[in-house]
Parts: sequence; C-alpha cells; structure tokens
Amino acid sequence: MARFTCEEVADQGRRRFLAGGAAAATLITTSGASAPAHAEATAKQKEFMAEANRLAVEAVDKGWGGPFGAVIVQDGEIVGRGQNRVLLTGCPVYHAEVTAIIEASARLNPKTLMGSDYCDGLLEMIPRPAGSPDIVASRAKMLAGCEIYVNGAPCPMCMSAIYWSRIDRVYFGASLADATNAGFSDAFQYEDFQKPYEKRSIAVTPGLEYQSSQIAFQTWNKRPNRHYY
Ligand SMILES: [Zn+2]
Repeated sequence: MARFTCEEVADQGRRRFLAGGAAAATLITTSGASAPAHAEATAKQKEFMAEANRLAVEAVDKGWGGPFGAVIVQDGEIVGRGQNRVLLTGCPVYHAEVTAIIEASARLNPKTLMGSDYCDGLLEMIPRPAGSPDIVASRAKMLAGCEIYVNGAPCPMCMSAIYWSRIDRVYFGASLADATNAGFSDAFQYEDFQKPYEKRSIAVTPGLEYQSSQIAFQTWNKRPNRHYY
C-alpha cells in the first residue's frame, strides 16, 4: 500500500477534467448540462454492472488494487472479467478493462495463442464499414460485437485498449470526477495528452534515430498478406 501514490497527483490541484477530448469526460464534467448524468439500465445490464461492481469491491477488500471491475459481454453473456490488481502485482497496467480484454480475447480468439504465423489468417477479419475513412480495407475482428461494462470511467490507457479491441460500446458507472476525488489521476492524463509533447508532464523526445526507425515499417510494408488489426 505504501507504493500507492496516485494521491500525490490529486494533491497538485489538477482536479480539472478533460475539456474537449473524450465524450465521456465531457458528459461528466458539465454538471447541469443537457447530457443526462445517469442512464437507466435494463435488467440484464444491472446484472453486468453488478458483476463489475463485485469485482471492484473484491479488489479493494483483498488489497489487490483500486476500486475497478469490468466485464465484457457478447450476445448477452459475459465472455471476460477483469479487476484492478495493480497492488497485487506491482504492475501499473493491470487494470480491469485490460484484463477483461485479455480474458475475452483468449476465449473468442483462441487461435492467436497457438501460433505465430499470423499471415495464415488466424484472426477473423472484418471489412471496414461503408463510408469509413480507414485506409485499410479490412482488419482483425478482435472483440467487435462485444460491449464492456465498467464500474468507473475508463482511464486513457483502457479507453485506448477498448479502441484496439474494436468493442462496440462502453457502459460505465462512476465518473472521472469520482476517480479524481478518490485520488486517481485518470482525468489529469486525459488532459495531459491534449498538450504538445514539450508541455506534457512526462518528457517526450520524438524523432530519435528517425531513419533507422523506418526499417521495421519498411519490413512491414513489404510483407505480403499483412494482417491488419
Ligand atoms: Zn485503466
């Protein structure tokens, strides 16, 4: 527990939230605005959120991590569960959404675990939607067709993981403001990412050894049957 230092971030007075980035954050921070603060859940959705809440409470009760739990649902059934285990593992990316994605992927895309010859098309591909600006005609399906239920607003890492997973929809309960008030820096990260590299809280140096960095991209671009994901 002594290593749990998110509190420091909250103490720096950065309790402002994302102004124009994630729609979720915008909904949360504009209290009194037209967007509803609360959404009505169906009976089935109540079950999914109850499971996410149960996982979150268990993580706290057992000292495994922060108060976050998630479930991934396909066709009305839970296909992946995750809970925050950052304190148990000492791994900062052991978040509920990420682990739920790993579990669901192992279940729905088991072939990817069995081989490395991805050019044989182990992952199911889906075409880009009509009118999509995507430059690639098809990508791996991943978790398309699934929804994720989280007890709290996803952090930027988890929201990005959800994008990579191609999950159809996100439902969450508690807001980024709730997370901030509990000492977590999710909202600050959303805000920091909108700044230019040189103004971010973590120093970023782009373009280092730029030419040699092209080799891997050229290798990818020349490879036949590239499996886009
Ligand atoms: Zn997260």
